[in-house]
Amino acid sequence: MLEKVIPWIEAWEGLFMPSPRYCPLCQQKPVDIGLPGCWPCVSRLEIGWHRIPGDDLCFCIGPYQGQVKERIVDFKFLNRMDIGWLLGSLMGIAAREEPLLQDIRAIVPIPLHPAREKQRGFNQTRILADGISNWWKKPILDLLVRPKETKPQVDLNRHQRALNLANAFAMREGDRMRHQEVLLIDDICTTGTTFAAAASVVRRYGGKPTGLFVASGRIE
Ligand SMILES: [Zn+2]
Repeated sequence: MLEKVIPWIEAWEGLFMPSPRYCPLCQQKPVDIGLPGCWPCVSRLEIGWHRIPGDDLCFCIGPYQGQVKERIVDFKFLNRMDIGWLLGSLMGIAAREEPLLQDIRAIVPIPLHPAREKQRGFNQTRILADGISNWWKKPILDLLVRPKETKPQVDLNRHQRALNLANAFAMREGDRMRHQEVLLIDDICTTGTTFAAAASVVRRYGGKPTGLFVASGRIE
């Protein structure tokens, strides 16, 4: 029954966030074919495809500075979900061309704790995942949950961040993750601690995690 209801709910949600006719960034020019916005605005973002150095396979589409950083701030703190959708769409357009991601079976948004999500009004990673999935036809699995309320990571060092996030994530219906290559989605990769904590839960259930972010301060 649930399998039948979920696609219906997702289609219904789509009515509230249809593909925009006008560019979400300038809100004046129509979107260009094959892009989620107008070409001048999208080109100004200087989107690229970057590997984030580290033990895990992680990618992002821009450095955490300049235009990309400003648009992430608009998205998260001014509730500009249309900009989040645009950023997610650009992630999807880039990801579908990456040979190392061709075995990805599903997109998994990294969740917020429910209290944090209620405070913000939305989970930014789910909006990004919607944008990705719209352009790169992969299902979204909302199986990762965040039962532990953690402190903001900003003022913590690397060791404190890892402790803060210990047991922060859990998995629902973990069997669905077995032998699945999944793409974990988050907005920013700073030290990689959040990704590492979420990825370890995916591995515990036999899944193979790769990371995709909008931006990172440390790219190759
Ligand atoms: Zn524009």
